[in-house]
Amino acid sequence: MAAMVSRGVVLRAFGEPLVVETAEVPAPQPGALIARVEMAGVCGTDVHLHHGNLPIPTPVILGHEAVGRVVRLGDGVTSDFTGVPLHEGDAIAWASSIPCGRCHWCVVEGERTLCETRRVYGINQRFDEWPHLSGGWADAVYLQPGTAVFKLPVGTPPERAIALGCAGPTAVHGVLDVIGVRAGETVVVQGSGPVGIAAAMYAHLSGAAKVIVVGGPASRLALARELGVGDVHVDLFAVADPAARIALVLGETPGGRGADVVLECAGVPAAVAEGFEMARRNGRYLVLGQYTDRGATPINPHVITRKQLTVAGSWAFAEAHYLRYIQSLPRLADRFDLTRLITPYPLEDANRALADVAAGAVMKAVLVPAGAA
Ligand SMILES: [Zn+2]
Ligand SMILES: [Zn+2]
Repeated sequence: MAAMVSRGVVLRAFGEPLVVETAEVPAPQPGALIARVEMAGVCGTDVHLHHGNLPIPTPVILGHEAVGRVVRLGDGVTSDFTGVPLHEGDAIAWASSIPCGRCHWCVVEGERTLCETRRVYGINQRFDEWPHLSGGWADAVYLQPGTAVFKLPVGTPPERAIALGCAGPTAVHGVLDVIGVRAGETVVVQGSGPVGIAAAMYAHLSGAAKVIVVGGPASRLALARELGVGDVHVDLFAVADPAARIALVLGETPGGRGADVVLECAGVPAAVAEGFEMARRNGRYLVLGQYTDRGATPINPHVITRKQLTVAGSWAFAEAHYLRYIQSLPRLADRFDLTRLITPYPLEDANRALADVAAGAVMKAVLVPAGAA
């Protein structure tokens, strides 16, 4: 790296504008590496973090989704997570969290997403503590020992790898591993933000016979339709009555029996009760979208019993999900024009990017430290 200093977009106080500050780029310790950030995603979770909806330390450089290039490798770092040799200049992506690997959840349960002491870039790594550069909204990021780093597959440019952001590996975990989608199934996706889009894409790749996307606003549904994401699109705002939406969805399922799988990707508590009604008897329901606590919602547990519904949850993703996300990127990109999801912003426009994400004005805002085209 030519410069010894990196800018970073710092959250100092909840609800206050983010500020661009600088920090010296440290030399990597053994097992660590320095990456230059090429693109960093702005996620709905960042909006919630900015509002103070999650208990995180401040100050913090935001950004838990990023791709970049290796600038310096610490001693002992010779290959990526899969064993592919790693060199300076290589295009890489990295999993956003480092589980401890020793606790009950990591070892006994084997559920690394549930680790209570996992370190997460851009979320719980303080800016005022060494190594300072622990968030993706920066020129450079310090990737600590234990980070799962992946060399991007040949032919996968950074804009493809960042297009789904954390929603890509989150969908791999929830849709493929937790609830599963089998060939020929009818799948309802509630929500048409990045999580819903990613979930629908993986449902298609799994061989779903029909994917029904219930979401909005219309601009997001139009983009989904153009990309071939979803076979049927139901606009929440055009069909404002939940009972009408349920009837519409049931009419799209075999025999009107309901969907085999319903994926909650909306992050709206009320979506859950509505989604139960869209599932068939003996169907499967996954709550994937409630990443922040937006409050309680009335549900009728009788519906779960009577229908013999399987209701599951899925939290974030671990290294194995990120690995399979990276490995499936070329197939995803063959089928869907991922880069159409992106709207680029220069790093110094992080506040504008965050506001646009909060307003649902863009599908995926991406910060480009070198300057957006
Ligand atoms: Zn995220
Ligand atoms: Zn742990």
